[in-house]
Amino acid sequence: TNALEIEGLTKTYGSGFEALKGIDLHVAQGDFFALLGPNGAGKSTTLGIVCSLVTKTAGKVKVFGYDIDTHLSDAKLHLGVVPQEFNFNQFEKVFDIVTIQAGYYGIPLKKAAVSAEKYLKKLGLWDKRNTPARMLSGGMKRRLMIARALVHEPKLLILDEPTAGVDIELRRSMWSFLEEMNRQGTTIILTTHYLEEAEALCRNIAIIDRGRIIRNTSKRELLQQL
Ligand code: ADP
Ligand code: ADP
Repeated sequence: TNALEIEGLTKTYGSGFEALKGIDLHVAQGDFFALLGPNGAGKSTTLGIVCSLVTKTAGKVKVFGYDIDTHLSDAKLHLGVVPQEFNFNQFEKVFDIVTIQAGYYGIPLKKAAVSAEKYLKKLGLWDKRNTPARMLSGGMKRRLMIARALVHEPKLLILDEPTAGVDIELRRSMWSFLEEMNRQGTTIILTTHYLEEAEALCRNIAIIDRGRIIRNTSKRELLQQL
């Protein structure tokens, strides 16, 4: 089974705008995959549908073989999501934000605390565990989003523009963190509009433009043709 399979995916927003015009994508287990494209191409819409944050118009989406139409809760167990916007409660403390998320997956409190500690340490946020999220810098909030997405140890991690607005130093440390996660077996899919980011991290790259996949290839081949 692939980590992600998308077939014939379309999205027409309520406004009548056709954001996706029939997307096919296959991402193998263990891959590090980039969905690359300019602003407005349909990257967030695609990932939003996979995470069931956005309703689709037509098409099939399977996460580790689980169809999101019929087996959404199974699909969600395997999925960790880092959306672009900060969507945690800003008044909650860092540690609580991560453990509350674990609760949504039915993870017992003790286990949730162990996992929260592991990822907050890996992401350099352990010192901030008792700080309300609103006191964190933008880069720390970004890392908190990642820790929260990993607390149930998903096999597939999806990040929407993970390093947008992040300074170069933090970007590099986020890159090495993601590389380490991938080496340990987590499949990673990210969207980006930086070729540089796709180039630095990813093994396979699909290019999306105006709601269509216009290229889908290995990074090596893509770079040879540029
Ligand atoms: P859906 O088809 O998923 O129900 P809608 O078309 O009803 O989505 O829009 C969802 C929300 O997104 C609405 O509140 C709408 O105002 C907002 N929205 C509309 N246009 C845009 C846009 N270009 N970019 C981002 N959000 C938008
Ligand atoms: P990307 O992530 O590649 O920048 P998006 O998936 O956010 O692209 O948006 C694709 C297109 O769909 C854009 O033209 C955007 O304005 C439009 N769009 C996004 N959300 C909505 C919405 N809720 N309602 C109407 N149009 C939307």
